[in-house]
Amino acid sequence: MALRCWRWWPRSAWPRTRLPFAGSSPGFGQRFSTQETTPQICVVGSGPAGFYTAQHLLKHHAQAHVDIYEKQPVPFGLVRFGVAPDHPEVKNVVSTFTQTARSQRCAFRGHVVVGRDVTVAELREAYHAVVLSYGAEDHRALDIPGERLPGVLSARAFVGWYNGLPENQALAPDLSCDTAVIVGQGNVALDVARILLTPPEHLERTDITEAALQALRQSRVKTVWIVGRRGPLQVAFTIKELREMTQLPGTRPILDPADFLGLQDRIQEVPRPRKRLMELLLRAATEQPGQEEAARRARASRAWGLRFFRSPEQVLPSADGRRAAGVRLAVTRLEGAGEATRAVPTGDTEDLPCGLVLSSVGYKSRPIDPSVPFDPKLGVIPNTEGRVVDEPGLYCSGWVKRGPTGVIATTMTDSFLTGQTLLQDLRAGLLPAGPRPGYAAIQALLSGRGVRPVSFSDWEKLDAEEVARGQGAGKPREKLVDTQEMLRLLGR
Ligand code: FAD
Ligand code: NAP
Repeated sequence: MALRCWRWWPRSAWPRTRLPFAGSSPGFGQRFSTQETTPQICVVGSGPAGFYTAQHLLKHHAQAHVDIYEKQPVPFGLVRFGVAPDHPEVKNVVSTFTQTARSQRCAFRGHVVVGRDVTVAELREAYHAVVLSYGAEDHRALDIPGERLPGVLSARAFVGWYNGLPENQALAPDLSCDTAVIVGQGNVALDVARILLTPPEHLERTDITEAALQALRQSRVKTVWIVGRRGPLQVAFTIKELREMTQLPGTRPILDPADFLGLQDRIQEVPRPRKRLMELLLRAATEQPGQEEAARRARASRAWGLRFFRSPEQVLPSADGRRAAGVRLAVTRLEGAGEATRAVPTGDTEDLPCGLVLSSVGYKSRPIDPSVPFDPKLGVIPNTEGRVVDEPGLYCSGWVKRGPTGVIATTMTDSFLTGQTLLQDLRAGLLPAGPRPGYAAIQALLSGRGVRPVSFSDWEKLDAEEVARGQGAGKPREKLVDTQEMLRLLGR
């Protein structure tokens, strides 16, 4: 299987090369001469991990050629489909990624699903090295009864819906209820809460999809509970996102001062960023608001609340059993200290009525291909410093390497490290010697399978179309949300 593409690929059709190794049978252990051979490297995934890995390789190796394979017809992963529409400044990284993609030594191969349209083994045969940077495309399940009832959604799908991810466009979240419960207290939970509660007119000039904006205009959701199984000291969100909540127009916070008893003393020992976050939480929960803030809260028609020490036990069905009507929460207490602090049920429960449940307890990577090792428990590809364990020539970066946490900057550092590891191996002669056909071989395979990749200049046409569609409404872009329409616009 591993040699399939290699065997039938006619040598006469290999790319013309001046390289002395053409015709030899390349193998691991032979010294790779960086002087003579163009390293053909491919990256799977065009999110921050894929682009930052490519950037590092191109910058630090003057000959390396990098192909970036992406399942969507459009690039940038969670920068396009995750980052909230009201955080446009975060998306500025796209200009750096665009520079990388426009390099003569880089190519974007969109609309190619690795593991389906082409196997990882085939890529490994065609390239000197393959970097898996395909992120975490699934969500972690709550694994509780009632989780599949209508009215229960993963935050991942909800985020994909408002951000134009084609597979989530039919989600049709029912926003006709008064109360939504979000399980989990990370930054994704706060993104979702903020989008649910922001006055829609404040989203009109963002790149949120028109369909989502329309649904949010009709939303009746007035209260959003953000539920954590542990306490304030253990929240996973960060200060900037909390501050945005405290300042969200038309909303007021619901925080129970009892949850914060004794916290003032405990925060003295915690690292500074967490201490500052706790101070903001404490102020919001326990200080009397000033006149202006009190008036703002009194005028608010919507509210958000943090509910602590509550672990989801069951999604409660409506009387007819047809949809979610609430969540049964197990009351918890904390055991252990520091990082090891765990929530354990006290035996008490509390029912929280709601019409919408959003589970925001993290993303999860999937195995991409049976030939690639995968740790199902940790949800990562087992690796040492980005080298996939026992698989020479195979690397990983980003969320699939270290798990689904960390911001774009963390992903950048991690991806540069993988790039560095790969180049070290290349220079140490640990990658196959001799030329590799790279995309020429894969293109033949894909074309035989009826797959026609989308190039970066194709994306730039789609990009221009989106920007033009947004202009009339004063939006930075109106995203194309239908893959078939994108392909039609490209003349396919
Ligand atoms: P991804 O960005 O997910 O990229 C993976 C890419 O691989 C995707 O394009 C995917 O389509 C592609 N792919 C998957 N499977 C295949 C396949 N089989 N074949 C080919 N391609 C494939 N960080 C911030 O700094 N600021 C923020 O405001 C912020 N907001 C966020 C909001 C949300 C909802 C989420 C979930 C995360 C947010 N982050 C934010 C974190 C940031 O998005 C991640 O750190 C980063 O995107 C991880 O990069 P990645 O490349 O590993 O994964
Ligand atoms: P996260 O930060 O890991 O938060 C997950 C939350 O879910 C935690 O509160 C966790 O609580 C809870 N949880 C997990 N399993 C649970 C269970 N079985 N029952 C109840 N609660 C459970 O994940 P995320 O919010 O998906 O964010 C992913 C990453 O993207 C993070 O690094 C985040 O910072 C980043 N991101 C950044 C931004 C931004 O910068 N604006 C925006 C979005 C996302 P415990 O702590 O108790 O496990």
